[in-house]
Amino acid sequence: MGALEQSQDIIFRSKLPAIYIPNHLPLHSYCFENISEFSSRPCLINGTTGEIHTYENVELIARKVASGLNKIGIQQGQVIMILLPNSPEFVFAFLGASYRGAIVTTANPFYTPAEIAKQAKASNTRLIITLASYVDKLKELAQDDDVKVMCIDSPPEGCLHFSELIQSDETELPDVKIRPDDVVALPYSSGTTGLPKGVMLTHKGLVTSVAQQVDGENPNLYYHKEDVVVCVLPMFHIYSLNSVLLCGLRVGAAILILPKFEIKQLMELVEKYKVTIAPFVPPIVLAIVKSPDLHKYDLSSIRTLMSGAAPMGKELEDTLRAKLPNAKLGQGYGMTEAGPVLSMCLAFAKEPHEIKSGSCGTVVRNAEMKIVDPETGASLPRNQPGEICIRGSQIMKGYLNDPEATANTIDIDGWLHTGDVGYIDDDDELFIVDRLKELIKYKGFQVAPAELEALLINHPNISDAAVVPMKDDAAGEVPVAFVVKSNGSKISEEDIKQYISKQVVFYKRISKVFFQETIPKAPSGKILRKELRKKLADG
Ligand code: AMP
Repeated sequence: MGALEQSQDIIFRSKLPAIYIPNHLPLHSYCFENISEFSSRPCLINGTTGEIHTYENVELIARKVASGLNKIGIQQGQVIMILLPNSPEFVFAFLGASYRGAIVTTANPFYTPAEIAKQAKASNTRLIITLASYVDKLKELAQDDDVKVMCIDSPPEGCLHFSELIQSDETELPDVKIRPDDVVALPYSSGTTGLPKGVMLTHKGLVTSVAQQVDGENPNLYYHKEDVVVCVLPMFHIYSLNSVLLCGLRVGAAILILPKFEIKQLMELVEKYKVTIAPFVPPIVLAIVKSPDLHKYDLSSIRTLMSGAAPMGKELEDTLRAKLPNAKLGQGYGMTEAGPVLSMCLAFAKEPHEIKSGSCGTVVRNAEMKIVDPETGASLPRNQPGEICIRGSQIMKGYLNDPEATANTIDIDGWLHTGDVGYIDDDDELFIVDRLKELIKYKGFQVAPAELEALLINHPNISDAAVVPMKDDAAGEVPVAFVVKSNGSKISEEDIKQYISKQVVFYKRISKVFFQETIPKAPSGKILRKELRKKLADG
Protein backbone atom coordinates (compact mmCIF):
# COMPACT_ATOMS: atom_id res chain seq x y z
CA MET A 1 0.00 0.00 0.00
CA GLY A 2 1.32 3.38 -0.82
CA ALA A 3 0.01 6.14 1.41
CA LEU A 4 -0.92 9.14 -0.61
CA GLU A 5 -2.51 12.42 0.28
CA GLN A 6 -5.84 12.99 -1.41
CA SER A 7 -7.53 16.15 -0.17
CA GLN A 8 -7.09 15.70 3.61
CA ASP A 9 -7.39 11.94 3.53
CA ILE A 10 -4.49 9.58 3.92
CA ILE A 11 -5.48 6.67 1.76
CA PHE A 12 -3.87 3.24 1.76
CA ARG A 13 -3.99 1.00 -1.26
CA SER A 14 -2.59 -2.41 -2.09
CA LYS A 15 1.05 -2.39 -3.08
CA LEU A 16 0.15 -4.82 -5.80
CA PRO A 17 -1.00 -3.34 -9.07
CA ALA A 18 -4.73 -2.93 -9.67
CA ILE A 19 -6.30 -5.67 -11.77
CA TYR A 20 -9.00 -5.86 -14.41
CA ILE A 21 -12.21 -7.06 -12.77
CA PRO A 22 -15.01 -8.26 -15.06
CA ASN A 23 -17.68 -7.05 -12.68
CA HIS A 24 -20.16 -6.43 -15.44
CA LEU A 25 -20.75 -10.21 -15.41
CA PRO A 26 -23.41 -11.85 -13.27
CA LEU A 27 -21.88 -13.78 -10.41
CA HIS A 28 -22.52 -17.26 -11.85
CA SER A 29 -21.09 -16.30 -15.27
CA TYR A 30 -18.01 -14.93 -13.56
CA CYS A 31 -17.56 -18.06 -11.43
CA PHE A 32 -17.83 -20.31 -14.46
CA GLU A 33 -16.02 -18.01 -16.89
CA ASN A 34 -13.01 -20.33 -17.18
CA ILE A 35 -14.89 -23.61 -16.77
CA SER A 36 -13.65 -25.00 -20.10
CA GLU A 37 -10.23 -25.34 -18.44
CA PHE A 38 -11.56 -27.66 -15.74
CA SER A 39 -15.03 -28.87 -16.74
CA SER A 40 -14.38 -32.55 -16.01
CA ARG A 41 -12.47 -31.95 -12.77
CA PRO A 42 -14.07 -32.43 -9.35
CA CYS A 43 -15.90 -29.35 -8.20
CA LEU A 44 -17.80 -30.49 -5.11
CA ILE A 45 -16.82 -33.47 -2.98
CA ASN A 46 -19.42 -34.48 -0.44
CA GLY A 47 -17.29 -35.25 2.61
CA THR A 48 -20.02 -37.39 4.16
CA THR A 49 -20.82 -39.63 1.19
CA GLY A 50 -17.73 -39.28 -0.98
CA GLU A 51 -19.95 -38.33 -3.93
CA ILE A 52 -18.21 -36.08 -6.45
CA HIS A 53 -19.77 -33.52 -8.80
CA THR A 54 -17.65 -32.25 -11.66
CA TYR A 55 -17.65 -28.61 -12.72
CA GLU A 56 -19.67 -29.47 -15.80
CA ASN A 57 -22.22 -31.20 -13.65
CA VAL A 58 -22.51 -28.38 -11.11
CA GLU A 59 -22.97 -25.77 -13.80
CA LEU A 60 -25.69 -27.85 -15.47
CA ILE A 61 -27.52 -28.54 -12.21
CA ALA A 62 -27.41 -24.84 -11.33
CA ARG A 63 -29.11 -23.98 -14.63
CA LYS A 64 -31.72 -26.69 -14.06
CA VAL A 65 -32.40 -25.30 -10.59
CA ALA A 66 -32.83 -21.83 -12.09
CA SER A 67 -35.33 -23.18 -14.60
CA GLY A 68 -37.13 -25.10 -11.85
CA LEU A 69 -37.31 -22.00 -9.63
CA ASN A 70 -38.91 -20.15 -12.49
CA LYS A 71 -41.41 -22.99 -12.98
CA ILE A 72 -42.54 -22.91 -9.36
CA GLY A 73 -43.09 -19.18 -9.63
CA ILE A 74 -39.92 -17.61 -8.25
CA GLN A 75 -39.51 -14.34 -10.06
CA GLN A 76 -36.40 -12.31 -10.70
CA GLY A 77 -35.62 -10.20 -7.62
CA GLN A 78 -37.55 -12.46 -5.23
CA VAL A 79 -35.92 -13.85 -2.12
CA ILE A 80 -35.14 -17.49 -1.35
CA MET A 81 -33.92 -18.54 2.07
CA ILE A 82 -31.34 -21.32 2.21
CA LEU A 83 -31.65 -22.92 5.63
CA LEU A 84 -29.21 -25.77 5.24
CA PRO A 85 -26.03 -27.19 6.61
CA ASN A 86 -23.15 -27.28 4.13
CA SER A 87 -24.11 -29.58 1.30
CA PRO A 88 -23.88 -29.78 -2.49
CA GLU A 89 -27.58 -28.77 -2.58
CA PHE A 90 -26.67 -25.51 -0.83
CA VAL A 91 -24.34 -24.75 -3.71
CA PHE A 92 -26.85 -25.79 -6.37
CA ALA A 93 -29.54 -23.65 -4.76
CA PHE A 94 -27.28 -20.62 -4.45
CA LEU A 95 -25.99 -20.77 -8.01
CA GLY A 96 -29.43 -21.64 -9.37
CA ALA A 97 -30.88 -18.58 -7.66
CA SER A 98 -28.12 -16.45 -9.17
CA TYR A 99 -28.94 -17.75 -12.68
CA ARG A 100 -32.63 -17.05 -12.01
CA GLY A 101 -31.85 -13.49 -10.95
CA ALA A 102 -33.26 -14.27 -7.52
CA ILE A 103 -31.74 -13.29 -4.17
CA VAL A 104 -30.52 -15.71 -1.53
CA THR A 105 -30.83 -14.92 2.13
CA THR A 106 -28.81 -17.32 4.22
CA ALA A 107 -29.71 -18.30 7.77
CA ASN A 108 -28.29 -20.59 10.40
CA PRO A 109 -30.31 -23.84 10.37
CA PHE A 110 -29.96 -23.96 14.15
CA TYR A 111 -31.94 -20.75 14.51
CA THR A 112 -35.10 -20.94 16.60
CA PRO A 113 -38.50 -20.63 14.87
CA ALA A 114 -38.70 -17.00 16.03
CA GLU A 115 -35.28 -16.12 14.61
CA ILE A 116 -36.07 -17.75 11.27
CA ALA A 117 -39.47 -16.07 11.09
CA LYS A 118 -37.97 -12.65 11.80
CA GLN A 119 -35.47 -12.95 8.98
CA ALA A 120 -37.92 -14.55 6.54
CA LYS A 121 -40.47 -11.78 7.12
CA ALA A 122 -37.97 -8.95 7.02
CA SER A 123 -36.50 -10.22 3.77
CA ASN A 124 -39.88 -11.11 2.24
CA THR A 125 -38.71 -14.66 1.62
CA ARG A 126 -40.91 -16.56 -0.88
CA LEU A 127 -39.26 -19.99 -0.66
CA ILE A 128 -37.30 -21.75 2.06
CA ILE A 129 -34.98 -24.59 1.05
CA THR A 130 -34.24 -26.79 4.04
CA LEU A 131 -34.15 -30.27 5.58
CA ALA A 132 -37.29 -32.20 6.55
CA SER A 133 -36.17 -32.15 10.18
CA TYR A 134 -36.38 -28.36 10.27
CA VAL A 135 -39.83 -28.05 8.73
CA ASP A 136 -41.55 -28.01 12.12
CA LYS A 137 -39.69 -24.80 12.90
CA LEU A 138 -41.35 -23.17 9.89
CA LYS A 139 -44.96 -24.18 10.47
CA GLU A 140 -46.35 -20.84 11.56
CA LEU A 141 -44.42 -18.86 9.06
CA ALA A 142 -45.41 -20.94 6.07
CA GLN A 143 -49.12 -20.73 6.91
CA ASP A 144 -49.16 -17.01 7.65
CA ASP A 145 -47.22 -15.79 4.72
CA ASP A 146 -47.74 -18.22 1.93
CA VAL A 147 -44.06 -19.12 1.90
CA LYS A 148 -43.20 -22.26 -0.03
CA VAL A 149 -41.07 -24.83 1.77
CA MET A 150 -38.80 -27.21 -0.11
CA CYS A 151 -36.70 -30.04 1.33
CA ILE A 152 -33.53 -31.54 -0.06
CA ASP A 153 -34.40 -34.85 1.65
CA SER A 154 -37.81 -36.61 1.90
CA PRO A 155 -40.29 -33.76 2.21
CA PRO A 156 -43.20 -33.99 4.64
CA GLU A 157 -46.69 -33.45 3.23
CA GLY A 158 -47.25 -30.00 1.83
CA CYS A 159 -43.58 -29.38 1.05
CA LEU A 160 -41.83 -29.43 -2.28
CA HIS A 161 -38.87 -31.67 -3.12
CA PHE A 162 -35.58 -30.21 -4.34
CA SER A 163 -35.34 -33.00 -6.92
CA GLU A 164 -38.17 -31.27 -8.80
CA LEU A 165 -35.79 -28.41 -9.48
CA ILE A 166 -32.89 -30.64 -10.44
CA GLN A 167 -35.05 -32.54 -12.89
CA SER A 168 -36.16 -29.39 -14.67
CA ASP A 169 -35.25 -28.73 -18.25
CA GLU A 170 -32.55 -26.08 -18.24
CA THR A 171 -33.47 -24.98 -21.73
CA GLU A 172 -36.78 -23.69 -20.42
CA LEU A 173 -35.19 -20.92 -18.41
CA PRO A 174 -36.30 -17.61 -19.91
CA ASP A 175 -33.65 -15.07 -20.77
CA VAL A 176 -32.85 -13.24 -17.55
CA LYS A 177 -31.25 -9.81 -17.77
CA ILE A 178 -29.14 -9.30 -14.70
CA ARG A 179 -27.66 -5.89 -13.96
CA PRO A 180 -24.36 -5.62 -12.05
CA ASP A 181 -26.15 -3.68 -9.33
CA ASP A 182 -28.80 -6.37 -8.74
CA VAL A 183 -28.68 -8.00 -5.35
CA VAL A 184 -27.75 -11.69 -5.31
CA ALA A 185 -27.04 -12.41 -1.64
CA LEU A 186 -28.71 -11.09 1.47
CA PRO A 187 -26.91 -12.28 4.59
CA TYR A 188 -27.99 -10.72 7.88
CA SER A 189 -25.66 -8.74 10.08
CA SER A 190 -26.09 -6.21 12.86
CA GLY A 191 -23.18 -4.13 11.55
CA THR A 192 -21.96 -1.50 13.95
CA THR A 193 -25.17 -1.15 15.94
CA GLY A 194 -28.74 -2.33 16.45
CA LEU A 195 -30.59 -5.38 15.22
CA PRO A 196 -29.56 -7.74 12.40
CA LYS A 197 -30.24 -6.19 9.01
CA GLY A 198 -30.27 -7.57 5.46
CA VAL A 199 -26.93 -6.81 3.81
CA MET A 200 -27.48 -6.28 0.09
CA LEU A 201 -24.56 -7.82 -1.78
CA THR A 202 -24.75 -7.36 -5.51
CA HIS A 203 -23.43 -9.39 -8.44
CA LYS A 204 -20.88 -6.66 -9.04
CA GLY A 205 -19.87 -6.54 -5.37
CA LEU A 206 -19.29 -10.27 -5.01
CA VAL A 207 -17.51 -10.56 -8.36
CA THR A 208 -15.23 -7.72 -7.27
CA SER A 209 -14.54 -9.29 -3.90
CA VAL A 210 -13.72 -12.72 -5.33
CA ALA A 211 -11.50 -11.15 -8.01
CA GLN A 212 -9.67 -9.13 -5.37
CA GLN A 213 -8.80 -12.38 -3.66
CA VAL A 214 -7.98 -14.78 -6.47
CA ASP A 215 -7.73 -13.09 -9.87
CA GLY A 216 -4.66 -11.92 -11.73
CA GLU A 217 -0.98 -12.42 -11.28
CA ASN A 218 -0.41 -11.80 -7.63
CA PRO A 219 1.01 -13.24 -4.50
CA ASN A 220 -2.47 -13.55 -3.06
CA LEU A 221 -3.13 -16.26 -5.54
CA TYR A 222 -3.57 -18.91 -2.98
CA TYR A 223 -6.19 -20.91 -4.86
CA HIS A 224 -5.66 -22.67 -8.13
CA LYS A 225 -7.28 -25.49 -9.99
CA GLU A 226 -5.11 -28.22 -8.50
CA ASP A 227 -6.14 -27.21 -4.99
CA VAL A 228 -8.46 -29.05 -2.64
CA VAL A 229 -10.23 -26.56 -0.40
CA VAL A 230 -11.95 -27.76 2.73
CA CYS A 231 -15.31 -26.14 3.32
CA VAL A 232 -16.15 -26.76 6.96
CA LEU A 233 -17.12 -23.20 7.84
CA PRO A 234 -20.84 -22.72 7.44
CA MET A 235 -21.81 -21.51 3.98
CA PHE A 236 -24.55 -19.38 5.50
CA HIS A 237 -21.78 -17.07 6.71
CA ILE A 238 -20.34 -14.83 4.03
CA TYR A 239 -16.73 -15.82 4.85
CA SER A 240 -17.40 -19.36 3.72
CA LEU A 241 -19.79 -18.45 0.91
CA ASN A 242 -17.36 -15.98 -0.62
CA SER A 243 -13.79 -16.88 0.32
CA VAL A 244 -14.24 -20.64 0.28
CA LEU A 245 -17.02 -21.49 -2.14
CA LEU A 246 -17.04 -18.67 -4.71
CA CYS A 247 -13.25 -18.28 -4.75
CA GLY A 248 -12.90 -22.05 -5.08
CA LEU A 249 -15.35 -22.15 -8.00
CA ARG A 250 -13.69 -19.25 -9.78
CA VAL A 251 -10.30 -20.93 -9.86
CA GLY A 252 -11.57 -24.45 -10.50
CA ALA A 253 -10.49 -25.98 -7.19
CA ALA A 254 -12.10 -29.08 -5.68
CA ILE A 255 -14.28 -28.08 -2.74
CA LEU A 256 -14.55 -30.66 0.02
CA ILE A 257 -17.85 -30.07 1.80
CA LEU A 258 -18.33 -30.96 5.47
CA PRO A 259 -21.77 -30.46 6.99
CA LYS A 260 -20.45 -29.73 10.44
CA PHE A 261 -17.25 -29.27 12.38
CA GLU A 262 -16.09 -32.40 14.13
CA ILE A 263 -12.36 -32.36 14.79
CA LYS A 264 -11.53 -36.02 14.13
CA GLN A 265 -13.60 -36.17 10.95
CA LEU A 266 -12.01 -32.96 9.76
CA MET A 267 -8.47 -34.26 10.25
CA GLU A 268 -9.37 -37.62 8.73
CA LEU A 269 -10.77 -35.99 5.59
CA VAL A 270 -7.90 -33.52 5.27
CA GLU A 271 -5.59 -36.53 5.18
CA LYS A 272 -7.82 -38.60 2.89
CA TYR A 273 -8.37 -35.90 0.25
CA LYS A 274 -4.97 -34.24 0.69
CA VAL A 275 -6.49 -30.87 1.38
CA THR A 276 -4.21 -28.02 0.37
CA ILE A 277 -6.23 -24.96 1.44
CA ALA A 278 -7.75 -24.73 4.89
CA PRO A 279 -9.89 -21.66 5.59
CA PHE A 280 -10.67 -21.75 9.31
CA VAL A 281 -11.69 -19.58 12.25
CA PRO A 282 -9.69 -19.31 15.50
CA PRO A 283 -11.79 -21.89 17.45
CA ILE A 284 -11.08 -24.53 14.77
CA VAL A 285 -7.38 -23.67 14.86
CA LEU A 286 -7.51 -24.02 18.64
CA ALA A 287 -9.25 -27.39 18.39
CA ILE A 288 -6.57 -28.65 16.00
CA VAL A 289 -3.59 -27.59 18.09
CA LYS A 290 -5.21 -28.97 21.26
CA SER A 291 -6.34 -32.24 19.74
CA PRO A 292 -4.70 -35.27 21.37
CA ASP A 293 -5.17 -37.03 18.01
CA LEU A 294 -3.28 -34.51 15.91
CA HIS A 295 -0.21 -36.76 15.64
CA LYS A 296 -2.35 -39.59 14.22
CA TYR A 297 -3.14 -37.69 11.03
CA ASP A 298 -0.98 -36.48 8.21
CA LEU A 299 -1.99 -32.89 7.60
CA SER A 300 1.16 -32.00 5.72
CA SER A 301 -0.77 -31.49 2.47
CA ILE A 302 -2.08 -28.16 3.85
CA ARG A 303 -0.21 -25.43 2.03
CA THR A 304 -2.24 -22.48 3.19
CA LEU A 305 -4.16 -22.11 6.40
CA MET A 306 -6.27 -18.99 6.69
CA SER A 307 -7.99 -17.67 9.74
CA GLY A 308 -10.62 -14.97 9.80
CA ALA A 309 -13.96 -13.81 11.22
CA ALA A 310 -12.53 -13.16 14.69
CA PRO A 311 -9.22 -12.18 16.25
CA MET A 312 -6.53 -14.82 16.62
CA GLY A 313 -4.01 -14.41 19.42
CA LYS A 314 -0.27 -14.45 18.75
CA GLU A 315 0.25 -17.50 20.97
CA LEU A 316 -2.25 -19.54 19.01
CA GLU A 317 -0.66 -18.45 15.74
CA ASP A 318 2.80 -19.42 17.01
CA THR A 319 1.61 -22.79 18.31
CA LEU A 320 -0.04 -23.58 15.02
CA ARG A 321 3.07 -22.64 13.07
CA ALA A 322 5.07 -25.02 15.23
CA LYS A 323 2.56 -27.86 14.86
CA LEU A 324 1.97 -27.49 11.12
CA PRO A 325 5.33 -26.27 9.84
CA ASN A 326 4.48 -26.96 6.18
CA ALA A 327 1.44 -24.69 6.16
CA LYS A 328 1.63 -20.99 5.56
CA LEU A 329 -0.62 -19.34 8.05
CA GLY A 330 -2.19 -15.98 7.58
CA GLN A 331 -5.16 -14.01 8.75
CA GLY A 332 -7.78 -12.32 6.66
CA TYR A 333 -10.12 -9.61 7.88
CA GLY A 334 -13.70 -9.49 6.75
CA MET A 335 -17.02 -7.90 7.57
CA THR A 336 -20.27 -8.97 5.92
CA GLU A 337 -21.04 -5.39 4.83
CA ALA A 338 -17.60 -4.99 3.26
CA GLY A 339 -18.33 -7.75 0.81
CA PRO A 340 -16.70 -9.20 3.05
CA VAL A 341 -12.89 -9.16 2.61
CA LEU A 342 -11.03 -5.96 3.52
CA SER A 343 -7.54 -7.27 3.90
CA MET A 344 -5.65 -10.47 3.56
CA CYS A 345 -2.27 -11.87 4.10
CA LEU A 346 0.13 -11.52 1.21
CA ALA A 347 2.41 -14.08 2.61
CA PHE A 348 0.91 -16.98 0.78
CA ALA A 349 3.41 -15.42 -1.43
CA LYS A 350 7.12 -15.52 -1.41
CA GLU A 351 9.55 -12.97 -0.10
CA PRO A 352 9.58 -10.07 0.58
CA HIS A 353 6.06 -10.21 1.96
CA GLU A 354 6.70 -12.02 5.21
CA ILE A 355 3.95 -12.64 7.71
CA LYS A 356 3.89 -10.93 11.08
CA SER A 357 2.00 -12.41 13.98
CA GLY A 358 -1.32 -10.69 14.53
CA SER A 359 -1.29 -9.05 11.14
CA CYS A 360 -4.53 -9.15 9.14
CA GLY A 361 -2.58 -8.68 5.94
CA THR A 362 -2.89 -5.72 3.63
CA VAL A 363 -5.85 -4.09 1.96
CA VAL A 364 -7.20 -5.95 -1.08
CA ARG A 365 -6.48 -4.64 -4.57
CA ASN A 366 -8.75 -2.15 -6.34
CA ALA A 367 -9.87 -0.79 -2.97
CA GLU A 368 -9.01 2.08 -0.66
CA MET A 369 -8.59 2.00 3.08
CA LYS A 370 -8.25 4.76 5.60
CA ILE A 371 -7.95 4.91 9.35
CA VAL A 372 -9.95 7.67 11.00
CA ASP A 373 -10.05 9.27 14.41
CA PRO A 374 -13.47 8.13 15.73
CA GLU A 375 -13.99 11.47 17.51
CA THR A 376 -12.97 13.95 14.81
CA GLY A 377 -13.24 11.87 11.63
CA ALA A 378 -9.74 13.03 10.63
CA SER A 379 -7.76 10.43 8.73
CA LEU A 380 -4.70 9.16 10.55
CA PRO A 381 -1.20 8.28 9.40
CA ARG A 382 0.56 4.94 9.82
CA ASN A 383 0.94 3.38 13.25
CA GLN A 384 -1.94 5.35 14.75
CA PRO A 385 -5.01 3.32 15.68
CA GLY A 386 -8.41 4.51 14.54
CA GLU A 387 -11.58 3.27 12.90
CA ILE A 388 -10.93 1.21 9.78
CA CYS A 389 -12.83 2.45 6.71
CA ILE A 390 -12.95 0.86 3.27
CA ARG A 391 -14.14 2.01 -0.15
CA GLY A 392 -14.54 0.06 -3.39
CA SER A 393 -17.00 -1.76 -5.65
CA GLN A 394 -16.99 -4.79 -3.38
CA ILE A 395 -18.85 -3.22 -0.47
CA MET A 396 -22.57 -3.70 0.13
CA LYS A 397 -25.19 -1.71 -1.73
CA GLY A 398 -26.78 -0.95 1.61
CA TYR A 399 -29.08 -2.47 4.22
CA LEU A 400 -32.41 -3.74 2.94
CA ASN A 401 -35.21 -1.22 3.59
CA ASP A 402 -33.06 0.71 6.04
CA PRO A 403 -31.65 3.88 4.48
CA GLU A 404 -30.87 5.34 7.89
CA ALA A 405 -28.68 2.43 8.97
CA THR A 406 -27.08 2.48 5.52
CA ALA A 407 -26.26 6.19 5.80
CA ASN A 408 -24.79 5.61 9.25
CA THR A 409 -22.46 2.96 7.85
CA ILE A 410 -21.53 4.24 4.37
CA ASP A 411 -20.81 7.96 4.36
CA ILE A 412 -21.51 10.34 1.47
CA ASP A 413 -18.03 9.80 0.07
CA GLY A 414 -18.64 6.07 -0.17
CA TRP A 415 -16.53 5.04 2.83
CA LEU A 416 -17.82 2.08 4.79
CA HIS A 417 -17.14 2.53 8.51
CA THR A 418 -16.38 -0.84 10.05
CA GLY A 419 -16.58 -0.07 13.76
CA ASP A 420 -13.25 -1.89 14.13
CA VAL A 421 -10.16 -0.17 15.46
CA GLY A 422 -6.82 -0.83 13.86
CA TYR A 423 -3.63 0.64 12.51
CA ILE A 424 -1.43 0.17 9.48
CA ASP A 425 2.26 -0.30 10.18
CA ASP A 426 5.36 0.74 8.24
CA ASP A 427 5.13 -2.40 6.12
CA ASP A 428 1.52 -1.71 5.15
CA GLU A 429 0.15 -4.42 7.37
CA LEU A 430 -3.14 -3.97 9.17
CA PHE A 431 -3.48 -4.82 12.85
CA ILE A 432 -6.88 -4.86 14.52
CA VAL A 433 -6.66 -3.77 18.15
CA ASP A 434 -10.21 -3.08 19.35
CA ARG A 435 -13.87 -2.85 18.40
CA LEU A 436 -15.93 0.32 18.71
CA LYS A 437 -19.13 -1.39 17.70
CA GLU A 438 -21.55 -3.31 19.88
CA LEU A 439 -21.05 -6.63 18.10
CA ILE A 440 -20.14 -9.74 20.10
CA LYS A 441 -18.34 -12.55 18.30
CA TYR A 442 -18.83 -16.07 19.63
CA LYS A 443 -16.48 -18.37 17.71
CA GLY A 444 -16.86 -16.01 14.74
CA PHE A 445 -20.69 -16.05 14.95
CA GLN A 446 -22.43 -12.72 15.35
CA VAL A 447 -24.36 -11.90 18.50
CA ALA A 448 -26.13 -8.55 18.37
CA PRO A 449 -26.52 -7.07 21.87
CA ALA A 450 -29.58 -5.09 20.73
CA GLU A 451 -31.39 -8.31 19.88
CA LEU A 452 -30.84 -9.77 23.34
CA GLU A 453 -31.61 -6.45 25.04
CA ALA A 454 -34.95 -6.27 23.21
CA LEU A 455 -35.84 -9.76 24.46
CA LEU A 456 -34.74 -8.96 28.01
CA ILE A 457 -36.69 -5.72 28.21
CA ASN A 458 -39.74 -7.58 26.96
CA HIS A 459 -39.77 -9.63 30.17
CA PRO A 460 -42.31 -8.23 32.67
CA ASN A 461 -39.86 -8.56 35.57
CA ILE A 462 -37.03 -6.68 33.88
CA SER A 463 -37.11 -2.93 33.59
CA ASP A 464 -33.82 -2.32 31.79
CA ALA A 465 -30.91 -4.30 30.39
CA ALA A 466 -27.63 -4.08 28.52
CA VAL A 467 -25.60 -6.85 26.91
CA VAL A 468 -21.85 -6.71 26.37
CA PRO A 469 -19.09 -9.18 25.44
CA MET A 470 -17.00 -10.99 28.03
CA LYS A 471 -13.70 -12.62 27.06
CA ASP A 472 -13.81 -16.40 26.92
CA ASP A 473 -10.98 -18.83 26.20
CA ALA A 474 -12.98 -21.23 24.06
CA ALA A 475 -15.41 -18.91 22.28
CA GLY A 476 -13.39 -15.69 22.11
CA GLU A 477 -16.33 -13.77 23.54
CA VAL A 478 -19.65 -14.62 25.17
CA PRO A 479 -22.63 -12.34 25.83
CA VAL A 480 -23.28 -11.26 29.42
CA ALA A 481 -26.22 -9.18 30.62
CA PHE A 482 -26.52 -6.30 33.07
CA VAL A 483 -30.12 -6.32 34.26
CA VAL A 484 -32.31 -3.97 36.28
CA LYS A 485 -35.21 -5.84 37.90
CA SER A 486 -38.71 -4.39 37.90
CA ASN A 487 -39.96 -3.17 41.27
CA GLY A 488 -40.31 -6.04 43.72
CA SER A 489 -39.35 -8.69 41.16
CA LYS A 490 -37.53 -11.78 42.42
CA ILE A 491 -36.34 -12.94 39.03
CA SER A 492 -33.09 -14.94 39.27
CA GLU A 493 -30.05 -15.29 37.01
CA GLU A 494 -31.19 -18.79 36.08
CA ASP A 495 -34.72 -17.60 35.17
CA ILE A 496 -33.23 -15.01 32.83
CA LYS A 497 -30.81 -17.43 31.20
CA GLN A 498 -33.60 -19.91 30.54
CA TYR A 499 -35.95 -17.25 29.26
CA ILE A 500 -33.34 -16.22 26.66
CA SER A 501 -32.21 -19.77 25.78
CA LYS A 502 -35.71 -20.65 24.65
CA GLN A 503 -35.72 -17.88 22.10
CA VAL A 504 -32.27 -17.87 20.55
CA VAL A 505 -29.71 -20.11 18.88
CA PHE A 506 -27.14 -21.62 21.27
CA TYR A 507 -24.35 -19.08 20.77
CA LYS A 508 -26.56 -16.13 21.69
CA ARG A 509 -27.30 -17.58 25.13
CA ILE A 510 -26.42 -15.33 28.02
CA SER A 511 -23.55 -16.68 29.99
CA LYS A 512 -23.79 -14.46 33.08
CA VAL A 513 -26.24 -11.99 34.56
CA PHE A 514 -25.24 -9.05 36.75
CA PHE A 515 -28.05 -7.29 38.58
CA GLN A 516 -27.78 -3.51 38.69
CA GLU A 517 -29.67 -0.53 40.08
CA THR A 518 -29.40 1.30 36.76
CA ILE A 519 -27.83 0.93 33.33
CA PRO A 520 -25.28 3.69 32.64
CA LYS A 521 -26.49 5.82 29.74
CA ALA A 522 -25.52 8.99 27.91
CA PRO A 523 -28.05 11.84 27.94
CA SER A 524 -29.12 10.68 24.47
CA GLY A 525 -30.22 7.36 26.02
CA LYS A 526 -27.33 5.44 24.46
CA ILE A 527 -25.99 2.68 26.69
CA LEU A 528 -22.46 3.41 27.88
CA ARG A 529 -21.15 0.01 26.95
CA LYS A 530 -17.57 0.98 27.53
CA GLU A 531 -18.31 1.50 31.23
CA LEU A 532 -19.89 -1.93 31.48
CA ARG A 533 -17.01 -3.56 29.63
CA LYS A 534 -14.60 -1.84 31.99
CA LYS A 535 -16.60 -3.07 34.95
CA LEU A 536 -16.22 -6.62 33.66
CA ALA A 537 -12.51 -6.21 33.02
CA ASP A 538 -12.00 -4.79 36.54
CA GLY A 539 -13.80 -7.85 37.93
P1 AMP B 1 -18.99 -10.67 10.19
O1 AMP B 1 -19.77 -9.59 9.52
O2 AMP B 1 -19.83 -11.68 10.87
O3 AMP B 1 -17.99 -11.27 9.25
O4 AMP B 1 -18.16 -9.96 11.35
C1 AMP B 1 -17.25 -8.96 11.05
C2 AMP B 1 -16.44 -8.59 12.24
O5 AMP B 1 -15.66 -9.69 12.73
C3 AMP B 1 -15.41 -7.54 11.91
O6 AMP B 1 -15.97 -6.24 11.79
C4 AMP B 1 -14.44 -7.70 13.06
O7 AMP B 1 -14.93 -7.08 14.23
C5 AMP B 1 -14.42 -9.21 13.26
N1 AMP B 1 -13.29 -9.81 12.52
C6 AMP B 1 -13.31 -10.39 11.31
N2 AMP B 1 -12.08 -10.83 10.96
C7 AMP B 1 -11.26 -10.51 11.97
C8 AMP B 1 -9.85 -10.71 12.22
N3 AMP B 1 -9.05 -11.34 11.37
N4 AMP B 1 -9.36 -10.22 13.38
C9 AMP B 1 -10.15 -9.58 14.28
N5 AMP B 1 -11.48 -9.39 14.10
C10 AMP B 1 -12.03 -9.84 12.97
